[in-house]
Amino acid sequence: MTVLVLGDCLTEFGPLASDARSTDERVLCIEARAFARRKPYHPHKLTLVFSAMRHFRDRLREAGYTVDYRRVETFAEGLDAHFAAHPEDHIVTVRRTAHGATDRLQRLVANRGGTVEFVADPRFHCSREEFDAWADGDPPYRHESFYRHMRRETGYLMDGDEPVGGEWNFDDENREFPGPEYVPPEPPQFEPDETTREVREWVDATFGEDGYDDAPYGGAWADPEPFSWPVTREGALQALEAFIEERLPTFGPYQDAMLGDEWAMNHALLSSSLNLGLLSPSEVIEAALAAFEEGSVSIASVEGFLRQVLGWREFVRHAYRRTPGMAAANQLGAAEPLPEFFWTGDTDMACVADAVDGVRTRGYAHHIERLMVLSNFATLYGVEPSRLNEWFHAAFVDAYHWVTTPNVVGMGTFGTDTLSTKPYVASANYIDRMSDHCSGCPYYKTKTTGDGACPFNALYWDFLGRNESQLRSNHRMGLVYSHYDDKSDGEREAIADRAETLRQRARNGTL
Ligand code: FAD
Repeated sequence: MTVLVLGDCLTEFGPLASDARSTDERVLCIEARAFARRKPYHPHKLTLVFSAMRHFRDRLREAGYTVDYRRVETFAEGLDAHFAAHPEDHIVTVRRTAHGATDRLQRLVANRGGTVEFVADPRFHCSREEFDAWADGDPPYRHESFYRHMRRETGYLMDGDEPVGGEWNFDDENREFPGPEYVPPEPPQFEPDETTREVREWVDATFGEDGYDDAPYGGAWADPEPFSWPVTREGALQALEAFIEERLPTFGPYQDAMLGDEWAMNHALLSSSLNLGLLSPSEVIEAALAAFEEGSVSIASVEGFLRQVLGWREFVRHAYRRTPGMAAANQLGAAEPLPEFFWTGDTDMACVADAVDGVRTRGYAHHIERLMVLSNFATLYGVEPSRLNEWFHAAFVDAYHWVTTPNVVGMGTFGTDTLSTKPYVASANYIDRMSDHCSGCPYYKTKTTGDGACPFNALYWDFLGRNESQLRSNHRMGLVYSHYDDKSDGEREAIADRAETLRQRARNGTL
């Protein structure tokens, strides 16, 4: 029997932790380069995963496990070598999250004469069975109802049957914009150790400029800042502690705000660790609840955080699992390619340039930048959801199919209505209210057409016009269509012309 540890699930809470397992059992880990060649991945993403794998190997060896760590070109080669050494072996591993991956693994093992047993994925709180029982049928799935179900099931932040604080949601207190006195805590930095430094150099040599030959804009990730994401459980626990002590207290009020000079704001910066299994969602939630019970964190902040981790993270994972065609969904028929500046950052739009700069620098942008700047722009512009999804997948340190696809195709671009009731789109007005970008931007936030008008404005109205047949009947879009109706034919024509000019400029690289 061998425990197969996969590179995206480096967790001690999984098959390795079960009472039935012992250090006598062998552990197999396959470091396959072919995975990393599939897309032009950000070097920090590759460094994170490969370094975390090697650290996990060392940790298991120190704990007394026998670890076969196979560095190969393809995963299949790794399995070939394993079964040559251990014919007819029985493999135990965590059930895969990406569509088709569990079946593929089963076939690969069976073709080599082995058997495989899948166990529940410890990176999530809500089991498949529990979600399926809650969903009770076909989509659409609605987050608010799921989240309340999870609160009741877990008892987190509950007082009997009632939510602590008397409300399920404190969003009204959580949409503040920080004043000039706001100084967010410095994000924790994790100095690369020898293993990480070695991996970082190997990543550049193996997948760097030459390795990006087939990728669009090959040099896109040429100059990131030094790598500083946690790659071990100890590092992830330090990141958790830093968040709970320093940033959670004002996480709630500022979670929707964007400041050009502050890339992290009060965000948790925990997604890369949670998604790799270095932290479990329950321990993260319980640490936040403990801080609330001690009185150092407000109900609005702790509820806002719980909603993200217990609500959204679990919800998107299962909504994705239950919707096999989600990656290709495109209900609005958007067909534009992704503008080049998503890779290069070369645009005058201050908000987009800043968000892309963060991605180029460290493979991260916070939630509102992802949703209301990057995805909002792409949706208004008419980018095909799968192309935006590919970009997110390649560019972010925390990106995996199960999380990127529902967020980009479901929430961000409204490619499907499986998990959102309406598109998350907004004009410059929203970005101005929630950020400090517009004051330093050469585009005029209040102008819709004509020279220098903010592209978000014309593209916003043009989006409503182009998608009227599908969106007007949506009861949540009634108000915006009433504003659209207030525009004269001449205004709508000027908007369509301006939108076309903007598309031309995006294609020419002059937006
Ligand atoms: P915080 O904003 O501080 O939130 C705390 C935690 O809540 C996160 O660490 C994360 O684990 C969880 N969380 C919050 N919202 C979501 C959500 N919608 N889906 C899943 N988990 C959530 N998250 C990823 O982990 N990987 C992705 O590839 C990813 N792509 C996204 C793409 C788009 C277009 C959008 C709109 C969102 C995406 N998200 C993704 C969700 C969310 O933006 C990130 O989880 C979050 O920004 C990570 O930063 P943080 O750890 O500082 O999180």
